Amino acid sequence: MAGISLPGTTLLVLCGTPGCGKSTFASRYFRETMIVSSDQCRFLVSDSETNMAASREAFKLFRFTIERRLSLGRFTVADSTAITRQSRGELLRIGRKYGFNITLLIFNIPEDVCLARNAGRERRVVRSVIAKMRQMLQRTLRDAHNEGFDNVYIITEGDLNNPAFRINIR
Ligand code: ATP
Ligand code: MG
Repeated sequence: MAGISLPGTTLLVLCGTPGCGKSTFASRYFRETMIVSSDQCRFLVSDSETNMAASREAFKLFRFTIERRLSLGRFTVADSTAITRQSRGELLRIGRKYGFNITLLIFNIPEDVCLARNAGRERRVVRSVIAKMRQMLQRTLRDAHNEGFDNVYIITEGDLNNPAFRINIR
């Protein structure tokens, strides 16, 4: 894939296992303020990006912030694993409410690459969590086309390493 072209009123939902490179990808292509990250929300409500006990409140802030941006017509990137149908459904509901284009970007990156990247960073996720989420990702790759997204794109390792890959916001 050479790139993706998206309308300005897009909610771009990133989806993939921990360590696949979602946040790195987002910071390469989008302005900081466009990216709403569930880990950043965890940090804001609990002083820790990894505090799983704070997930409930963190995801409320995640959805609240996304909705506030959409109410102002702003292009928004939802940076979370979005690996469950329910989590994607919540984002679809918010996007629909504001008449946004809702595009799903699934990171289909080999499990060993995710594990190696996870091992090489400061904030590490338990290996078994990545393996379990890989199975959920397979289900997502199969089902996401029928969930109501306006577009579903699959990002591969080749796309991540392609310096010519572009995202155009129209
Ligand atoms: P999480 O869901 O846990 O937030 P993530 O999908 O956001 O994970 P990142 O934090 O972006 O993953 O990346 C994981 C690690 O892999 C980081 O250390 C990052 O620097 C490295 N990484 C990301 N993308 C690439 C790439 N294309 N090539 C090499 N290393 C990469
Ligand atoms: Mg991340």
